[in-house]
Amino acid sequence: MKVLVAVKHAVDHNLKPFVDATTGQVDLSQARRVINPFDEISIEEAVRLKERGLVTAIVAVSIGGADAKDSLRHAYAMGVDRALLVETDARLQPLSVAKLLKVIVEREQPGLVFLGKQAVGEDYGQTGQMLAALLGVGLGTFTSALQVKDGSVEVTREVDKGTQTISLQLPAVLTSDLRLNEPRFIKLPNLMMAKKKAIETLAASELGIDLANRFTVIKSNEPPQKPGAVQLASVSELVNTLRKAEVLQ
Ligand code: AMP
Repeated sequence: MKVLVAVKHAVDHNLKPFVDATTGQVDLSQARRVINPFDEISIEEAVRLKERGLVTAIVAVSIGGADAKDSLRHAYAMGVDRALLVETDARLQPLSVAKLLKVIVEREQPGLVFLGKQAVGEDYGQTGQMLAALLGVGLGTFTSALQVKDGSVEVTREVDKGTQTISLQLPAVLTSDLRLNEPRFIKLPNLMMAKKKAIETLAASELGIDLANRFTVIKSNEPPQKPGAVQLASVSELVNTLRKAEVLQ
């Protein structure tokens, strides 16, 4: 079985985005980008399935500018077999990304398609759902464990108060959650080897897809500021403070 993994070259999660007071928007155009952490988890899962003999080939696909090749090289270093860039400089919305991914899925015919549950930065959390609907296949969101069976996949999903296990007929789309696995540490020789690997490139504009945006962000708000913590010098000071706050009588 072939597995396809969608890899977004996403905003570095160590970065603290801020809302521009005049525009009311978060400007991510110049933000440093790295592989989306949830996509790293998807790659790790695909590689583990291959190591267990359940998967024969892993294809990573990214949609973005030439800089997205960095994330595809990261995917190579983790163990994918092929990498594909659908090149565009436009900041695409999830529906456009899902439509482009559908074209690639139809070409590659994978049994499983992995996406992350969300991409850091824009945080849409929509692409996997849209892709499954466009393909007309089953979808397992928030995957925290999975077991490939004959013609199906058993998926444990993170839900509000615990987990839920579902069985999906293959082919299927899955979105990876944080608890699915812990991605492996990449060794330097693998990174060096990844630099030499070929990245097949297609122009998004040549795939005959309507890539127009369907929504606009009206405004963004930063979370309310929490009151700062105070350091107290002694237990008696703590007791007095708690009494004043009417936590203690
Ligand atoms: P989102 O719906 O934007 O939060 O993204 C969810 C997941 O969709 C990501 O974790 C990726 O697996 C996939 N995805 C989104 N945008 C792209 C992209 N430009 N290229 C490849 N995969 C993407």
